[in-house]
Amino acid sequence: MVYNEQHKLILQTIMHEGFLSENKAKELIIKLFNDNKVVSVINQINEKLQPLNMLIKKIQCEITGQLYWILISTVLDEVTRFQTEFSKNQLALLRIIFSEIIISNNGCIQSTVCLNLCSSSDVKMSKADAEDFLEDMVNRKWLIYKDGYYYMGIRSITELMPYFKATYESNLNTCYLCKQILFHGKKCTNCETFFHLYCLKKFIMVCDPMKCPNCNTVISDVDLSGIQDDSILAEEDTSKVKKSSRKVLRNKN
Ligand SMILES: [Zn+2]
Ligand SMILES: [Zn+2]
Repeated sequence: MVYNEQHKLILQTIMHEGFLSENKAKELIIKLFNDNKVVSVINQINEKLQPLNMLIKKIQCEITGQLYWILISTVLDEVTRFQTEFSKNQLALLRIIFSEIIISNNGCIQSTVCLNLCSSSDVKMSKADAEDFLEDMVNRKWLIYKDGYYYMGIRSITELMPYFKATYESNLNTCYLCKQILFHGKKCTNCETFFHLYCLKKFIMVCDPMKCPNCNTVISDVDLSGIQDDSILAEEDTSKVKKSSRKVLRNKN
């Protein structure tokens, strides 16, 4: 397949929205190419982006497990670009929210607490403005909202990681299974090792009942029912995985 107008359309969609979900990418690629090979189409676009120091990167949502494609710069300081998108007050509020999420025990902040931050001295934003701004942040995937809590969004995790690493290095946790930085996940009650929920979802397919791979303590009290196993579906034959996950579920009952 040669790079063509269809590839450009995919790139434009990602640039316009700031992200593209795996499901939407698949839908779009089937429509444009009559083919569902998302990875090979994205790879072709990435070949063209490389001289421009840009890259479309895959990222999995910590809360839903859903896969997304995000365009990032490989050289420019992402944080600088991010700063030009928002007003001084909005940036001040975001910085406090990010900080609260990172220093919290479970990578989230209660929405009422979040709204009250708008009255802190360096933000000076009305509650109504803060509400609108937070909704916009959720829609654009800088934050995630679930059941009264805000979590780190996929775009923040992908595009602002250099900022988080430079600012909060000692406060950042790493997932034992994928070795990537983690903001929200499950902590082993014995050795305090962290895991992404989506990594545990894959892990339970090979280790059921689930035991901590670091200290062998049984990992209980974790709800993985809301986590999609998008990454598995993207990597392997869909029908095969569906069958094997059904088997795991049957064995559990
Ligand atoms: Zn992980
Ligand atoms: Zn452990």
